[in-house]
Amino acid sequence: MDAGLVAERVDEVRRRIARVATAPVSIVAVTKGFGPDAVAAARAVGLTDVGENFAQELVAKRREDEASGASALAWHFLGAIQTNKVRVLAPMVDCWQSVWREREAERIAVADPGATVLLQVGFASGAGRPGLSAEAVAALAIRATELGLRVEGLMAVAPRPPEEARAAFRTLRGLADQLGLPVRSMGMTEDLELAVAEGSTMVRVGRALFGDRPGREPRAASW
Ligand SMILES: *Cc1c(COP(=O)(O)O)cnc(C)c1O
Repeated sequence: MDAGLVAERVDEVRRRIARVATAPVSIVAVTKGFGPDAVAAARAVGLTDVGENFAQELVAKRREDEASGASALAWHFLGAIQTNKVRVLAPMVDCWQSVWREREAERIAVADPGATVLLQVGFASGAGRPGLSAEAVAALAIRATELGLRVEGLMAVAPRPPEEARAAFRTLRGLADQLGLPVRSMGMTEDLELAVAEGSTMVRVGRALFGDRPGREPRAASW
């Protein structure tokens, strides 16, 4: 991983954000599928938040990063939450971004009391698609709060077609506002301008920082 190249790319991501932003937007560097060198590169360019989709990858990279003795990064878990992995992830995750089932919230509350979570809203129909329906968000926000979790916001992966993506981002923004939740985690490499224009406070960016992911594309991005 060429740290100089990553530095140029992070500048470009910041320019893309700045062209449309009206408020600060944080960047989560999505290192899934890349080696630990991507984490080191993110740190080297001054990013403080990294995101991973798979438990094993997150644990391995976080251990390696901490062994370097550098200051702690904030680790975001972005992937499907397997309830049997929650315990091993608990000491390793600073923000659970993809909570959408009550049993996930319950497990996290036990393994990681007071954890910071975002609730994932789903915008594609069909069984197996992750995320809450718009109607179900408020109930889980209340339940998770009762469980002692810090519900800081909402997260979504938008559908591809720009008009559908825009509508999804708008809906997420409206839901977050209704619930008084400050964090709106939306926008990735392909759609970050649209997301920021619609009120994202946090973009999750992988390929725009690190290039194409090596090997098989991990399950992602297209729901
Ligand atoms: C992979 C992934 C990202 C980053 O996607 P890029 O297209 O590489 O920017 C962001 N969020 C989630 C949930 C992902 O799975």
